[in-house]
Amino acid sequence: MSLFPPGKSPSIALRANRASLFCTLAGLFCVLAFAGISDDPALAQQAPSRPIVSAARVVLSGDTTRLAFSISAPVEARAFVLADPARVIVDLPETMFAIEPPGAGGNSRGLIKSYRFGLLAAEKSRIVIDLSGPARIVRAVSEPGPDGATRLLIDLAPTDVVSFAAAASRTLVSSQPEASGKASASGKAITPGGGAPRANRPLIVIDPGHGGVDSGAHLPGRPPEKEVVFEFALALARQLESGGRYSTLLTRNEDVFVSLGERVRIARTAGAQLFLSIHADTLSETSVSGATVYTVSDRASDVHAARLAEKENLADKTAGVDMAEEASGISDILFDLTRRETRAYSHVFARTLVSIWKDAAGLNKNPQRSAGFKVLQAPDVPSVLLELGYLSSEKDAALLTTPQWREKTASAVARSVDQFFAMRGPGQGGAEGAASVSGQGGG
Ligand SMILES: [Zn+2]
Repeated sequence: MSLFPPGKSPSIALRANRASLFCTLAGLFCVLAFAGISDDPALAQQAPSRPIVSAARVVLSGDTTRLAFSISAPVEARAFVLADPARVIVDLPETMFAIEPPGAGGNSRGLIKSYRFGLLAAEKSRIVIDLSGPARIVRAVSEPGPDGATRLLIDLAPTDVVSFAAAASRTLVSSQPEASGKASASGKAITPGGGAPRANRPLIVIDPGHGGVDSGAHLPGRPPEKEVVFEFALALARQLESGGRYSTLLTRNEDVFVSLGERVRIARTAGAQLFLSIHADTLSETSVSGATVYTVSDRASDVHAARLAEKENLADKTAGVDMAEEASGISDILFDLTRRETRAYSHVFARTLVSIWKDAAGLNKNPQRSAGFKVLQAPDVPSVLLELGYLSSEKDAALLTTPQWREKTASAVARSVDQFFAMRGPGQGGAEGAASVSGQGGG
C-alpha cells in the first residue's frame, strides 16, 4: 500500500530501499526498525501524520528576515537561539523535507547566513539557521497563508549582542536536561545492522558519519557526505556479515542525526571489538584525492589532520545539540593502561587497512594520520576514522558514488578486519579484551 503518489515522497522511497537492504541483512530486526514504512496497513496508518515541507524561501521585509516553508499541515514549532556561533534552532515533530537543502554559501540573505534541516531523533525534526548577526525570534509558527495553504514562518529581527547573549544563556539553562535527553534518545532507534551479536563473533560497529540535520560535506551537484558514507557502511556491513565471522551494528540506520558522544556510547555499550567511522570530506585543494585512515591522538600528526578533527568535532554544533558537554571519562591508572592498549590496537588496524587498501583503490599521499577526534575517544574499543576520499576531488567524487568502487573497497576493509582479528585472536577486544591484554603486558 502506498500512501503517497509516486514522485511525491523521495525520502520514503529512499528509506524503503534501505529497509529492504537491511532486511536481507537483519532478517527479523528489519520489521522493528522500519515499522514506520511497513506495508502493514495498521502500521502505515501512522505515516500521514508526518507533515511534508514542499518549498522554502527567504523574504526580506523592513528589518525582518523571514524564512518561510510551505508545509502540508500545521505543526508545533519550538524555537530558541544558541551562541558560538550564533544560530536559531527550530524543533518540530517529525517532518518530511521533500526539498533540496540549500547549497553551502550563496544563500546568505538578511539575517540568515545559511540553514539546514533534517531528522534529529526518532519523531523529531530540526531546522538550524546560521545567523549573520545577532537576532531575536519574532515568531516561529505555522498558519494559513493568503492562498489558504499552510506555511511555517520563522521571523527574525536584528538585536544587540548583549540581548542575544542573554537569550542564548537562558536557552542553555532551560534546555540542558532536555537537550542531553534528546541526544541519547537517538540511540533507542538503533538496531543491529546484521542481527543480534553472537557471543563467538567479534562485533564490528560501523559509524556512517553525519546524518539528518548534519549533512557533512556537501558540494552543489554532488551527493552529500552523509549519503555517500551511509551507502558505504551498508556495503561494508553486508560483506562482513556474509562471511559469517562477524556481527555488525550501525550507529545509524537511516538519515538521522546522532551526536558524537552517542556514537561512542553505542560502540561501548554493545561491546564492540572494532569501531569504524566512515567519512568523505571536502578540501579547498580540489586536486587532493585518495583515502586516509585516522586514529586518535592527543597531539595531531600534522596540520591537515588537526583541521579535519576540528571540523568533524563541530558536528554536534552543526545540529544544535552542543548545549550539554559530554561527561569526561574517569582517569586512573587502569583506565590509562586500557586506553594505551586500545590506541596501540587502533594503530595496528590503521596500518593493516592502509596496506590492504592500496591494492584496491587510491590512497592519500600521507595515508595514516592522527588527531583528537571526539568520535574515536572510546578508551576500550579500537577505533579508526576512514576518510574514503574527498568529495571536493572530481576523481574521488565520481568513484565514491559507484557500486563497483564501493564493493571493491568494502572488500578491502573486510580483508583488513580479517587480518586484524587473525593477528589479535578471536574473543580479544572490547573492554574485556583490552583489559586482559593490559594484564599480560602485551601489545
Ligand atoms: Zn565527515
